[in-house]
Amino acid sequence: MIPFNRPYVAGRERQYLTEVVESGQTSGDGPFTRRASTLLTALVGAPSVLLTTSCTHALELSALLLDLRAGDEVIMPSFTFVSTANAYVLRGAVPVFVDVRPDTLNIDERAVEAAITPRTKAIVIVHYAGVPCEMDAILKVAKHHRVPVIEDNAHGLGATYKGRPLGSMGALAAQSFHATKNVQCGEGGALVLNDDRLRERAEIIREKGTDRSRFFRGQVDKYRWMDLGSSYLPSDLLAATLTAQLEAFDDIQRQRHAVWDTYHAELAGWAADRGVTRPTVPAGAEHAAHLYYLLMPSLDERQAMLRHLADAGVQATFHYQPLHSAPAGERFGRTGPGGCPVTDDVADRLVRLPLYAGMTEAETAQVVGAVRAYAPR
Ligand SMILES: *Cc1c(COP(=O)(O)O)cnc(C)c1O
Repeated sequence: MIPFNRPYVAGRERQYLTEVVESGQTSGDGPFTRRASTLLTALVGAPSVLLTTSCTHALELSALLLDLRAGDEVIMPSFTFVSTANAYVLRGAVPVFVDVRPDTLNIDERAVEAAITPRTKAIVIVHYAGVPCEMDAILKVAKHHRVPVIEDNAHGLGATYKGRPLGSMGALAAQSFHATKNVQCGEGGALVLNDDRLRERAEIIREKGTDRSRFFRGQVDKYRWMDLGSSYLPSDLLAATLTAQLEAFDDIQRQRHAVWDTYHAELAGWAADRGVTRPTVPAGAEHAAHLYYLLMPSLDERQAMLRHLADAGVQATFHYQPLHSAPAGERFGRTGPGGCPVTDDVADRLVRLPLYAGMTEAETAQVVGAVRAYAPR
């Protein structure tokens, strides 16, 4: 069976983990936290990053940092992972779910504008599959209404929009290093701060509401409870694994792009004949090769394709179930003007193919062959 994902081992993970264990310095903000943060800062092209225990926690940190509270509205796509919404719902904020564009499956910038109200306190966007959102339009609406943009950049590390790295354009961005992401340490994440003035308070929130980070830098002689906070600081063991992965970033991306490019070229004719849609990457954008998907003509055909691929030894899968119509989405959120018809449609028809660094040419060829052998009944 070709798995859907196989977490990549870059090579130095074991050596770095041993160094941390033997040094006795396993808690957070140690030498490897600094190394991973430096590598990540350069990749995202941001003034500063803070490693966190997950992307979910980076998003929660963003909600605390922006002082979101009961009744505040946060505009976001319905077609995303649960954490994009939950992080703000935990503060009592109301997610306002808007639709995605049918080409990139990214938040529809026109729907964002239409969903703005006097209570809108943030716009959270997701660069789905590591393909950039329409940032010029989104940033323009945000600026006009003086609302911060938060990039949920779990898919988009290393990708660019008109030459600008994803994660560098919002006030804040959240990265994920979960085992299913391009760069992984099992569970992990980062908050990217594109406004350095937010750093001091972000450090306090991440360190249980204390100024322990300043204390460790010798800037204060004791640390105290300063603010709301939680424990969002990852162990240096996680940072060691992440450092090994980030050092191999170019190699990981080269391998993932090779698989993506093969799928895209080899399935072009087949998709055109069958009424199947392949991913769209807009002009001026470079994507992150996070995932490769096909949009089948119908839900029935999607289900048939998944069964067909499983029979052929290929583990493919569907993706996000719309948040606006999920039980908790209906309870905690509301749907913006126009509803989410595109989201409902694409969620039913989407198939994700296996894609990971370390995937062999034979495995890629087997997936292509299996897809092409699909015959609708
Ligand atoms: C994976 C993912 C998350 C959650 O990441 P964790 O690191 O597992 O918390 C959030 N948003 C999106 C879009 C994701 O793909």
